[in-house]
Amino acid sequence: MDFAFTPAEERFRAELRAWLAENPPPEVVVPTVNGRSSEHPAAEAMLAWARQLARGRWLGLNWPAEYGGRGLGVIEQLIFYDEIAPFEPPQLGQMVSLGVVGPTLLRFGSAEQKRRFLPRILAAEDVWCLGFSEPGSGSDLASLRTVALPEGDGFRVNGQKIWTSHAMLAGWCLLLARSDPRAAKHHGLSALLLDLSLPGVEVRPIHNLVGEPHFAQLFLNDVVVPRECLVGAPGQGWTIVNGALEAERDLWVFEMYGELRVAMQRAIAYARRVAGGESPGQWDASRRDRLMQSFIELEILRLSGLRSITAALRGRPSPLDASRHKIFGSELGQRLSSLAVELEGPFALCVHGERRSPDHGLASYQYLTRRSSTLISGTSEVQRNILAQRALGLPRG
Ligand SMILES: Cc1cc2nc3c(=O)[nH]c(=O)nc-3n(C[C@H](O)[C@H](O)[C@H](O)COP(=O)(O)OP(=O)(O)OC[C@H]3O[C@@H](n4cnc5c(N)ncnc54)[C@H](O)[C@@H]3O)c2cc1C
Repeated sequence: MDFAFTPAEERFRAELRAWLAENPPPEVVVPTVNGRSSEHPAAEAMLAWARQLARGRWLGLNWPAEYGGRGLGVIEQLIFYDEIAPFEPPQLGQMVSLGVVGPTLLRFGSAEQKRRFLPRILAAEDVWCLGFSEPGSGSDLASLRTVALPEGDGFRVNGQKIWTSHAMLAGWCLLLARSDPRAAKHHGLSALLLDLSLPGVEVRPIHNLVGEPHFAQLFLNDVVVPRECLVGAPGQGWTIVNGALEAERDLWVFEMYGELRVAMQRAIAYARRVAGGESPGQWDASRRDRLMQSFIELEILRLSGLRSITAALRGRPSPLDASRHKIFGSELGQRLSSLAVELEGPFALCVHGERRSPDHGLASYQYLTRRSSTLISGTSEVQRNILAQRALGLPRG
């Protein structure tokens, strides 16, 4: 394995570093972890950051130049995550648009859909959300009941979606619905591009553990979607959405590693300060061991990510790596944030603006928000089932 970067990749890194020095990301204000809020400062910072990156042409690094991308490769994306992580930027608000919708349209979209939507995503003009999950249809997504029945030159959509991240900010939704109720479960589904301003669409916010309106329920009552908003062919929805989710999981390892590396550095710095103030023997050895263990696991995540990239670049991609990284990275993140809260002890309860808060409430914010990381985009249990069956050849659970 050769970890050296090429001169062109090093030039890319230098260009990005120079740009970041001039254009640092907006600061993320950690919300007070109590009560519900109709405001979502994290979301505003996220959108501002996406627009800033769009102006610098840092979005869609690997997308074709004809749609506004840079036509670069996966290594440049890795460098991108590596360089932005220490700035602790807002979450990349365009994650769904960039990580799922764009790759889906590039692979399955019509020429007209690509021309119409891709440049607007890269200019951070459109925000997209994913309308897949429904009450009762999450892990077993193919059981979904929202219908999109062919009618005239389009589809009439009725049903309900849930846990739709960032739907409050989005103008468009990649929707999975049943277009042929008589077909077998996985075969009667279609993927539609849904304009959320259409009559019959209602978006109701849902608040997460820290009180942010992170996601929403979508109520769809007699929404008429034109035929040109169908992606691929009718009945191809299951294949399209699986491709979309794979694209989303592929991004995890780089983004997650960057975030966890910074969280790890902060935990180590805090542990040093606390341990430094205690007499020898007083510092809890089990905490030291757990910190060390997380440090080792973080390095495993990095190396495993690099190994996957190397395999993919050599034409031998391993599709199951995404599931491994998703399980390992999300569970490591939860262990690390639990340890960070434990290290801070009662001071973890001090929120933004309080004098005694070691980190403006960041450790407890991350502890709470990372609870969902083992659920989102396919739960750990479901990912383990995938690995058990496809990697180990075990029978279905
Ligand atoms: C923060 C967050 C953001 C999300 N954003 C979106 C979004 O933007 N768009 C969207 O469509 N959805 C979104 N989701 C929904 C997410 O995809 C689902 O929560 C997830 O797929 C699990 O589905 P469920 O919640 O219905 O749980 P269920 O499927 O009901 O699962 C409940 C429990 O049973 C376990 N389980 C289920 N089936 C099996 C099995 N076969 N074997 C073993 N265990 C099993 C699960 O692992 C889980 O622990 C989001 C979820 C979260 C938490």
